[in-house]
Amino acid sequence: MIDLHTHSIYSDGTETPATLVRMASDLGLSALALTDHDTLDGLEPFLALQPHVSTRLIAGIELSCRFLNAELHILGLFIEPSDPDLQERVVALRARRHERNEAMMARLKHLGIQLEWSEVASSATTDLVSRAHIARALVQKGVVSHLQEAFQRFLGEGAPAFVPFKELTPREAARWIREAGGVPVVAHPGRTAHRHFPWDDAMFELKRQGLGGLEAYYSDYGPTEERYFRGLAERLGMAQSGGSDFHGTVKPGVQLGRGKGGLAVPDEILEGLELQRGLGPERRGI
Ligand code: AMP
Ligand code: MN
Ligand code: MN
Ligand code: MN
Repeated sequence: MIDLHTHSIYSDGTETPATLVRMASDLGLSALALTDHDTLDGLEPFLALQPHVSTRLIAGIELSCRFLNAELHILGLFIEPSDPDLQERVVALRARRHERNEAMMARLKHLGIQLEWSEVASSATTDLVSRAHIARALVQKGVVSHLQEAFQRFLGEGAPAFVPFKELTPREAARWIREAGGVPVVAHPGRTAHRHFPWDDAMFELKRQGLGGLEAYYSDYGPTEERYFRGLAERLGMAQSGGSDFHGTVKPGVQLGRGKGGLAVPDEILEGLELQRGLGPERRGI
């Protein structure tokens, strides 16, 4: 069993990379990818532990894009953490995040909720500050009683304080990941937008834009979704990926490797992902 989608304290998770590695090793996972949002900073301490465990440690990242007027996340697996271009690009992304966070806080202020920057940043370990941290501040202040309510009432897509990420396109994200030696994978497609999102056509377009794989195994999927996305990957000749999206105690229902209990990502899918490595869009025969 493997887990190719996890977060640490370097983005919005609650565990250190070292704890994730220990948990994966204890669980007997054969591979673990760390895929923090918009940062490579956790990868050095993560990969440094490789000599101590038999779990294969894979460097990753998760980037937020806009596609068909909805939020779309893209994982980069097998990226080179020291790649200078990618380093520079994620620094710029975090600066954009800062502007977006300020815009969302201004909207909250209009709604009569005054949050100080220090209250938001206090739950962040690094300079990666996301809606998850704004939501935690709203809980701490007692404005809402839990994180889910913060997203429902204020921060979720379409809610009054939501400001979308506009700039990054899947094509751009895929190129960045490929240039850093990685494989771009569409993250949790079943969680994007509404239930009737036209995934057959959308995924075809994403493949055209350079995406090499899609997450066919995911904590939130039922058997029908898993079957559909595995079939879609096969039909389009894209690699299948899978992971829990573990965030630690802030997502209490989701366990490393096991998701909500029924997740089991097979080792074999690593082969298909490996095949995608080093294949630029121009060489994938489409
Ligand atoms: P951002 O990257 O700033 O758009 O923030 C998105 C992050 O907020 C996600 O990675 C999740 O960790 C968290 N998040 C998004 N939606 C929810 C939700 N409904 N409940 C709890 N956390 C959420
Ligand atoms: Mn997150
Ligand atoms: Mn995501
Ligand atoms: Mn994630």
